[in-house]
Amino acid sequence: MKAALITPFLSHLPLHPSAYLGYGAAILGKKFELDIIDLNAHIYFKNRDKLSETLSIMESKKVIMDSFDVLPLYYELVGSLESEFKQISWKNYEKIFITTPSWFVTILTKDISNISKQIKAESKNSEIFFFGNSLGSWTDEKELIKQHIQIRHLNDLFNPNHGNQPVDYDALPTPLYVNREKYVFDILPFKLKHGCVWGKCRFCSLAKGWNSGYLERSVKCVIQELEELIDRYNPNMLVCRDNSINGGNLIEFSTQFEKFKKPWVAMARANLTIQEIKALKKSGCRFIYFGMESGSDQVLRKINKGIDSIQMSRFIRDLHDQGIMPAPSLFVGAPDETEEDFNKTVRFILDHGEQIDIINLYPLMITPGAEFSLTQKKPNRNTLTRLNILIKVCKDMGIRVCVGTQNAEYLLFKRVYPDNDQKSITAQD
Ligand code: SF4
Repeated sequence: MKAALITPFLSHLPLHPSAYLGYGAAILGKKFELDIIDLNAHIYFKNRDKLSETLSIMESKKVIMDSFDVLPLYYELVGSLESEFKQISWKNYEKIFITTPSWFVTILTKDISNISKQIKAESKNSEIFFFGNSLGSWTDEKELIKQHIQIRHLNDLFNPNHGNQPVDYDALPTPLYVNREKYVFDILPFKLKHGCVWGKCRFCSLAKGWNSGYLERSVKCVIQELEELIDRYNPNMLVCRDNSINGGNLIEFSTQFEKFKKPWVAMARANLTIQEIKALKKSGCRFIYFGMESGSDQVLRKINKGIDSIQMSRFIRDLHDQGIMPAPSLFVGAPDETEEDFNKTVRFILDHGEQIDIINLYPLMITPGAEFSLTQKKPNRNTLTRLNILIKVCKDMGIRVCVGTQNAEYLLFKRVYPDNDQKSITAQD
């Protein structure tokens, strides 16, 4: 039986293949004659001259915004989607599985509906499925079911009714990645766990819905999987796609990872111990992206971050002292953020200019599934004014400002990506 595994075309830059795509391909390939179509990567790759131009403009700027620097290309390429669609023989596929492209985990319901409608218009008999961990937050399960899109869980792609249990990555086969030339970087993702060890930040959608719950992997299984991936693909770099690498398996993992002599990067909560940071450094970790969120303890308490500004400061200095780039992300416009709170954030940045090269700033948005969205909290009305002030503060200090997640992720990778023969497509073009 023929099946396809496909991703929708989104504004998500194809920096590397998604872990969901890799695991899905390995599982489905055992049962079906499978075509793997990362439509997102494919469309950007077909337009790689334009993509390269977009990326090099981003690299030349001090302040980069997804809305000005990433989205225009996406809107330009959306026009080519219909003709790309016509080139795929949808009628050949009895089953079509849709999943997450690239690095960013969220897919809006409408993006899955759109691709499903286009498939149905070409092949009404194909069964359509979706799997991804943004179900229950960015992706509305009930709406998909209404549209006859069947929901599947990575733990069991062949049967329904698995609900939002943690993904048991240790029980899955080693991911399969194809057409790797279509991605911007030669980077592969891996997971140390399902979920976030904290999971209680009030603004957070990432640890909600199907990504709630917590399940750490055995280090032995992760290392075995990485051995296979490195043997098979020899990627230039690896990225841990946990929302935070904090967990009981981190030091053991870091110690065992040393033998690969591969650079890697990750996201963390800003309360790793100095022993953990030293182990990360020894293992080859190049940067840690983390949610600093605010320099005000009052705001940090109200958003239930579980970490205060003294810990944030210590964390930034420890990473920097150990030679790991600290990559903070923070927002302005928390619902109850006062002028004094905002000034504390400005002060915090001024005090850490020596340690920070790139910062990810964004206006707080209330996102689906987050506690703030359920309690109908609204962003502060001074959000945009404060964002502009903070951008200027950072710019004046020589910190590169990324507004939005797509450009931040690209520029952070670009900063630490190893400079050897296998370069990113931007460098080749
Ligand atoms: S914001 Fe980060 S640390 Fe907080 S709950 Fe979400 S994933 Fe966890």
